[in-house]
Amino acid sequence: MWHRSSEVFVLMGTAVDAATRDTNGSLIEKNPTVVFVLGGPGSGKGTQCANIVQHFGYTHLSAGDLLRAEIKSGSDNGTMIQNMIKEGKIVPSEVTIKILQNAMLESGNDKFLIDGFPRNEENRAAFEEVTKIVPAFVLFFECSEEEMERRLLGRNQGREDDNIETIRKRFKVFVESSIPVVEHYKSRGKVRKIDAAKPIEQVFQAVKTVFTVHNDKAVA
Ligand code: UDP
Ligand code: MG
Repeated sequence: MWHRSSEVFVLMGTAVDAATRDTNGSLIEKNPTVVFVLGGPGSGKGTQCANIVQHFGYTHLSAGDLLRAEIKSGSDNGTMIQNMIKEGKIVPSEVTIKILQNAMLESGNDKFLIDGFPRNEENRAAFEEVTKIVPAFVLFFECSEEEMERRLLGRNQGREDDNIETIRKRFKVFVESSIPVVEHYKSRGKVRKIDAAKPIEQVFQAVKTVFTVHNDKAVA
């Protein structure tokens, strides 16, 4: 996917090519610390990320929220993104990666929680290839589908994909496409698994231990 798009950049000429190189160049200089936060839909990634931000001074980048903001901004890709999300499908890597790169560059911070990305092996390989960033570790929230379904149907955030039909599709995509990403990092000793079926406070206790062991100091 990314390779094809690089060829397009080349065909389109040097301006876009140079812009892409600049983004990468300055992001490499920034050399950010990245933690990937993975887990099924409704496993509590967003909730726990808010706690981690408060406690350890990271900036939270939710790939899903950034994609939804892209739809709202009326960008050229908006309709395509909206259709993918409605179907629970994974948006093309180059789109999501560009948005994440820009968010990291625009931020004054250099520590990021990237929540809900990478969602498949292609996302993962493209991100590493393009940004040269390897995550410090991967926080993985483990939760049963029964519990996740209960949370998603109860949360009422007005999301077009929080209906039972799309939820089932998202579960299937998670098992088939996202678990292999967790396995990839597991084989590299990078996965910190959390029992996410527990109450929010108890989950955060376990999360805090992971960041403390990683030597992240609590802020204020
Ligand atoms: N999505 C995507 N790529 C990403 C992150 C999200 O394509 O890197 C899309 C995908 O369609 C997904 C939806 O956005 O089902 C919602 O993602 P989010 O992380 O907000 O929801 P979650 O499934 O974690 O509740
Ligand atoms: Mg989320």
